[in-house]
Amino acid sequence: MDFASTIRSIPDHPKPGILFRDITTLLQNPIAFRAAVDQLVSRFAGGRVDCVAGIEARGFILGGAVAHQLSIGFVPLRKKGKLPHRTLAESYELEYGVDSMEMHVDAVSSGQRVLLVDDLIATGGTAEAGVRLLRRAGAEVTGAAFVIDLPDLGGADRIRKMGVPVQCLVAFPGH
Ligand code: AMP
Repeated sequence: MDFASTIRSIPDHPKPGILFRDITTLLQNPIAFRAAVDQLVSRFAGGRVDCVAGIEARGFILGGAVAHQLSIGFVPLRKKGKLPHRTLAESYELEYGVDSMEMHVDAVSSGQRVLLVDDLIATGGTAEAGVRLLRRAGAEVTGAAFVIDLPDLGGADRIRKMGVPVQCLVAFPGH
């Protein structure tokens, strides 16, 4: 599957100098959406996974589908102030700003094996915050899966250095 051709690139969004990789065009293509979810699932099919943690917001769409296909639960990692119950929080730097990510304190239990899912990894700051949150709650992060890697920004390597295997379906040079 040629995922790259199904992803739209929008220059200068949301800020000048950012080339935004828009997966809505992949999601509206039923063959590409199906193939993306199947490939994310198959790359982690060998090991046991107890639940999927998806990063707001595009990680919810992909992570929800992956969790459904694996018949396991889904945990949302959300932007500050969105979750209604008590939370753990981690702040992180984005390619375009600073933010804080939260997870319900009881979202995962100690020893649970969790697969982290998002649409894209750039600098890896967002995914690293997700790994830190899950580990603070006692979970074992058994993998991190992304549709898009921007390898020149080093995020996937940063997560691998944390001891988490990373899988991506397509890489774009530059940022
Ligand atoms: P980072 O923390 O630098 O790895 O950034 C990853 C997060 O920011 C993901 O949740 C992406 O959805 C979003 N993001 C960062 N850069 C881009 C980009 N060039 N195009 C689309 N989304 C991006």
